[in-house]
Amino acid sequence: MMEGVRRAVAKFLKGGGVYEKAVDAFLRDLQRELIKADVNVKLVLSVTRSIRERALKEEPPPGVTRRDWMIKIVYEELVKLFGGEQEPQVEPPKTPWVILLVGVQGSGKTTTAGKLAYYYVRRGYKVGLVSSDTHRPGAYEQLKRLAEEAGAMFYGEKEGDPADIARRGLEELLQRGAEVVIVDTAGRHGHGEEAKLLEEMRAIASKVRPDEVALVIDASIGQKAMSLAERFHKSTPIGSIIITKMDGTARGGGALTAAAVTGARIKFIGTGETLSELEPFAPRRFVARILGMGDLESLLERIRSLEEASELDKAAEDVLKGRITMRTIYRQLKAMRKLGPLGKVLQMLPGASMLASIDEGALKLGEEKMRRWMAIIESMTYEELDRPDIIDKRRMRRIAIGSGTSVEDVRELLTYYKNLKTMMKKLKRDKRLLRRLGM
Ligand code: GDP
Repeated sequence: MMEGVRRAVAKFLKGGGVYEKAVDAFLRDLQRELIKADVNVKLVLSVTRSIRERALKEEPPPGVTRRDWMIKIVYEELVKLFGGEQEPQVEPPKTPWVILLVGVQGSGKTTTAGKLAYYYVRRGYKVGLVSSDTHRPGAYEQLKRLAEEAGAMFYGEKEGDPADIARRGLEELLQRGAEVVIVDTAGRHGHGEEAKLLEEMRAIASKVRPDEVALVIDASIGQKAMSLAERFHKSTPIGSIIITKMDGTARGGGALTAAAVTGARIKFIGTGETLSELEPFAPRRFVARILGMGDLESLLERIRSLEEASELDKAAEDVLKGRITMRTIYRQLKAMRKLGPLGKVLQMLPGASMLASIDEGALKLGEEKMRRWMAIIESMTYEELDRPDIIDKRRMRRIAIGSGTSVEDVRELLTYYKNLKTMMKKLKRDKRLLRRLGM
């Protein structure tokens, strides 16, 4: 899907010419590719608008080209479009965990039940599958076979009330020690009789009381996934969405973004007919793939480390100019936590050696203390951040409570701040030393 995006990225990064023009040309390519993938036009326009605005406004940190920075923006905005930063929670939060699979006939529900069973069996869970589909001839046999293949237990009845069958199946499998139970339901009636299908869903859900209702959607329906998800959600609140047949359609982008809009999390995508072809859906990984990189990873990594270096440089600059506030210390702590102790990065960063030379205390700060100090600073008001001297006993108590630390901790941080400031004053007077440090 969307090989075109990858080509557009490569063209943008290699191409010359005026930056603004290149951005617009790239965004036109991106729009075309997203629309080809059946992403809703309004979503397409809104995401490309945000990218453009940021691309023209944001200053990349030193050492990062505007074009590299632009690709980072594209990455971030597309991740938002496809559901956000969060990784899907695939591990059951507790056991036993009961998943009810719903969806229209042909969406790939039964196959997905088998795939889920296989997925959880391989992760070490005892899994049971229940077939409650009495409408589709062959559904029972199909799921029974899949259960065997996946190494899961099976319960099914070919006739009777689906809700009762599901209930009996659940009870029996739990008794046999199942930790994850997956209940497959009828998709039935195609489109004409959706009302009856939803009715049956509700009946099963009320008897089974599942921990998670997972809606299975065929990717080829594209952006119609949104209204489908909404209709199901109204009848039985949907906890997660599984998009199947991502391998067989160019419209996968539509289904994914439409489903993301409903607010339900897309948890898995199906990428083939065999049991192992199911993967947790992580927008970040997915977008990285669309943008065509391995390379993206290293680009983002490089930008991250340059940003941190620049934070540290800014902190050093503040110190030099005698502008030490709690914000300075926060920056310093943040950079240090990511980069490790200052000592390690001295060779890399001119600013850091400056800080370290006046501030040996910082070299010895442990991880735990840094974490506590950052929490303390996060609990301060703007006024306190800029003028730490106003922090009296009463404020200290408030800050300690707000940050889950002790007054002692707050006092220690304030002492650190005062020492840093005093040292800085001395240092400033010592012009010779400053010159020796090359400032
Ligand atoms: P149900 O009616 O919803 O239970 O649908 P089935 O599980 O019987 O699947 C319908 C068809 O879709 C079958 O031929 C499956 O092999 C196929 N199918 C299901 N998931 C996928 C997938 O992720 N990729 C591909 N290519 N085919 C799939």
